Amino acid sequence: MDRREIAALLAYIGRLDPRSIRTDEGEARDQLAQWHELLGDVPMATPHGWDALAAARQHYRTSPYQIQPADVVRPWESYRRNRLALHSDPTPSADPDDQAAWTAELVGTRRAVAAGIAQPTQARAITSSQEGVNPRLQARLDQIGSCIPPAARAALIPFRPARAAREAAVAQGLPDALSVRCEWCLAPVGEPCRRRRIGPNDGVRAITPRATPHPGRLDLAAQQAQHTEQDQQPALA
Ligand SMILES: [Zn+2]
Repeated sequence: MDRREIAALLAYIGRLDPRSIRTDEGEARDQLAQWHELLGDVPMATPHGWDALAAARQHYRTSPYQIQPADVVRPWESYRRNRLALHSDPTPSADPDDQAAWTAELVGTRRAVAAGIAQPTQARAITSSQEGVNPRLQARLDQIGSCIPPAARAALIPFRPARAAREAAVAQGLPDALSVRCEWCLAPVGEPCRRRRIGPNDGVRAITPRATPHPGRLDLAAQQAQHTEQDQQPALA
């Protein structure tokens, strides 16, 4: 509150409790200076529920004693505490590799919540997950499309050839072979085709994943994709 707001608060308090009115000019100036010194960092009101006049009113509703600056500061501190207790830090929209920007955004959001400028962000477990997503963060997620950054995905290609081949096929609009079960090697949906190594006694010694799916599986996936398209067309028409 600036001096003008403090003066308005004292005028309001004077209406509630004439005992607090200072008629002597010097005393009135001292009272204003004292309150301003102690309440300079307390806002008059915030968009989300804090109102210094309401705090003064509440004091006189429940207490016969003259109001002190502490009677406004205490409710303000508990207002801040309550809001921070409700707040769970949302994921910043800043680049996670930019530590300074990331931290600054977290701290800035907390300050805004505590000061009553922003509403607390509640844990996603108890609210709708879509509603609270920061639009800038959503744009970043859409761009990447995965929790693995593009550069790291590229570096991983040699170590997961089946996965890379699947992603490449989907990117080119080809049927996704892994969306169906392989009739040849019986690899289930989502798992790459496999090659069996047969040992000398006819027993299976090892199963190694193949980078490319068996041709029959590709055909099956293509057929399935066609069927799905045909199924969808009448629904659209
Ligand atoms: Zn197979």
